[in-house]
Amino acid sequence: MPEVESPAPPPEPLRPEPRQPRPNAPGLDAPVIRLPNIGPAFAQKLEKLGVETVRDLLYLLPHRYDDFSQLRTIDKLKFGEEVTIIGTVWDIRTRDIGNDRKMVTARVGDGTGEIQMTWFNPWIEKQLRVGQAYSFGGKVETYRSDLVMRGPEFEPLDRALLSTGRLAPVYPLTEGLSVRWLRNVIKLALDAWGADLPDFLPEPIRRSNGLLTLAEAITQIHFPDNHERLAAAHRRLSFDEFLLLQLGVLSARERFRGAPARPLRAGAEVIAPFVERLPFALTAAQSRALREIAVDLESDRPMGRLLQGDVGSGKTAVAAAALWAAVANGSQGAIMAPTEILAEQHARSFGRMFAAQVNPTSGQPVRVALLTGAMSAGEREETLAALGRGEIDLAVGTHALIQKGVEFRDLALAVVDEQHRFGVEQRAALRQKGVQPHMLVMSATPIPRSLALTLYGDLDVSVIDEMPAGRTPIRTKWLTSSQRERAYGFIRRQVAEGRQAFIVYPLVEESPVSEARAAVEEHARLSANIFPELRLGLLHGRLKGEEKDSMMRAFGAGELDILVATSVVEVGIDVPNATVIMIEGAERFGLAQLHQFRGRVGRGEHPSYCILVSDVAEGEGVRRLEALENNTDGFALAQIDLELRGPGDFFGTRQSGLPPLKTAELSDLRTLEDAREAAKAVFRADPELAVPEHRELAAQVAQFWRGGGDIS
Ligand code: ADP
Ligand code: MG
Repeated sequence: MPEVESPAPPPEPLRPEPRQPRPNAPGLDAPVIRLPNIGPAFAQKLEKLGVETVRDLLYLLPHRYDDFSQLRTIDKLKFGEEVTIIGTVWDIRTRDIGNDRKMVTARVGDGTGEIQMTWFNPWIEKQLRVGQAYSFGGKVETYRSDLVMRGPEFEPLDRALLSTGRLAPVYPLTEGLSVRWLRNVIKLALDAWGADLPDFLPEPIRRSNGLLTLAEAITQIHFPDNHERLAAAHRRLSFDEFLLLQLGVLSARERFRGAPARPLRAGAEVIAPFVERLPFALTAAQSRALREIAVDLESDRPMGRLLQGDVGSGKTAVAAAALWAAVANGSQGAIMAPTEILAEQHARSFGRMFAAQVNPTSGQPVRVALLTGAMSAGEREETLAALGRGEIDLAVGTHALIQKGVEFRDLALAVVDEQHRFGVEQRAALRQKGVQPHMLVMSATPIPRSLALTLYGDLDVSVIDEMPAGRTPIRTKWLTSSQRERAYGFIRRQVAEGRQAFIVYPLVEESPVSEARAAVEEHARLSANIFPELRLGLLHGRLKGEEKDSMMRAFGAGELDILVATSVVEVGIDVPNATVIMIEGAERFGLAQLHQFRGRVGRGEHPSYCILVSDVAEGEGVRRLEALENNTDGFALAQIDLELRGPGDFFGTRQSGLPPLKTAELSDLRTLEDAREAAKAVFRADPELAVPEHRELAAQVAQFWRGGGDIS
């Protein structure tokens, strides 16, 4: 029986090894194959992880860590803990366990006790030597009543510990690459090249934000000394991404806002005559937003403003007043909406709001024209000609507005409604219809401010945080399908009181009929069996533009009691007499979309109701529906949505045209704000990033934005 050794001392924190001689001294951008132990086969496997150069390898970030930082003596081990122990192998044996499988068992002692370890990998026997001490990292489990470790990681003690005794990095893996192998090559690359990582961050920014150097951060993100150092490394790398992001955003903004715009007169003498003729008084929040917009319009810098306001808060009237300013200044305005129904509705309400207004230049009534894909070629041609001659003051339309051949005589203000429905290119295309026009983008789906700043560039933000007076909050109730009759009864009573209702079904193409019944069939069934005495309309995306329009008009005019619809009613539809919206298969819709649906009611003086029908019993769907039942505030829901879906998914950052973020999380507001401040300071001092101390930074910005991203 060998003598019991005293436990080995704890390992030192990882320090870079003395620098290795570098074969052919390849730079950071050299292919990984130049590393001593990477041949073509490994290089190919690394390529699958997106790693081609040494720099890529250093930036192949762990997606999690095994916490083997807790060093324990064997007598102190507890079931279930993840630990590292340092001990000597006393005995090792391999046995067949059938099915061609072998189990290796080692007995390891550290002077305080002994523990058995097992692996199902016959090679282990060759890697461990009896009488030798190792560091073992793994989870403490039990076999019969003894504590054991199954498949622990281990390393000899004469080298820096990469897999045990620490927070051990775990990387995304590909077939044929082991985590131990990756840890080793990354450690090699760090030792040889880590110190060469030029810190592109100007020293004063790094210091004033209390950030690690890049070399430290990259070392610590792979092999953190402890949790604090890991957090510091994470913060530095997140800061970098946010900074590069914001610098790109700022320079894009400069490109479109650098050249002067034409200032528009937008003082009270211009705006008030329009506002006074609206059928209602603006809320305080609407007035404030309008004042902010007016100040922008009067400036010779093109406006770039996001107007946020919950569903029903009255963004359209604010946009209309701003567009009026364009007309009053002898120019043109445009508003683009994501659907034909919405564009048609805007055209109608603009028709009403502008009916009493006269274009001061022409002395003619203000002319509003609709431009959609549903128009005949003849109509379209006529409209385009009038637009080009400046006979049309305001163009209201869908994507048709940004098509080739659409030319304005003088577009001074472009408005994008429901702007998250449009991609960056589309917003940019609208801007290009004018010479440095002012831009107003509107969102009924509230976006947390930090996200807005990141996703939409350095837009200024106005918020309408108040509903028009007299609205009663919408009551929301979640029913199961077996309670559907109750909902029908409720709708019947509302209609008897003179109100109207929506019944919404998930999109025909996207849903198996069995789960959520198609609107078309449901319309037939509801008309024949449930509401034979009522007038039912049907609205879905496959109807022709004019059919949709006449259906909406009939519903709006109270000629229909119930509108059976697919998600086409989601945005913007405004029928103040509608007081119930019943949403079938509610769990199939996202939270923002459900909130949009709900915003179709509660737009008039009558109390309104939202009925969610769903049999979902668990998971995110439940949380979404509960959130909707318990919250009426769009901003609160946006926050919940962000938490449920994660920022990556929120409104699709892809659509926003942003480069992907590897480390930074959009919910990390503090780092985002700090990086934004830093970016603004850099940009103020040196917008072209031309001075020598910004050269590396400029290269990083270019690399970060490579291939992606136009920001509007
Ligand atoms: P959203 O912000 O969702 O686009 P809308 O602009 O469609 O909202 O406005 C919703 C409804 O509220 C419309 O019927 C509009 O005419 C009405 N509205 C807007 N502003 C006011 C106000 N200040 N007072 C009363 N009703 C208003
Ligand atoms: Mg709207």
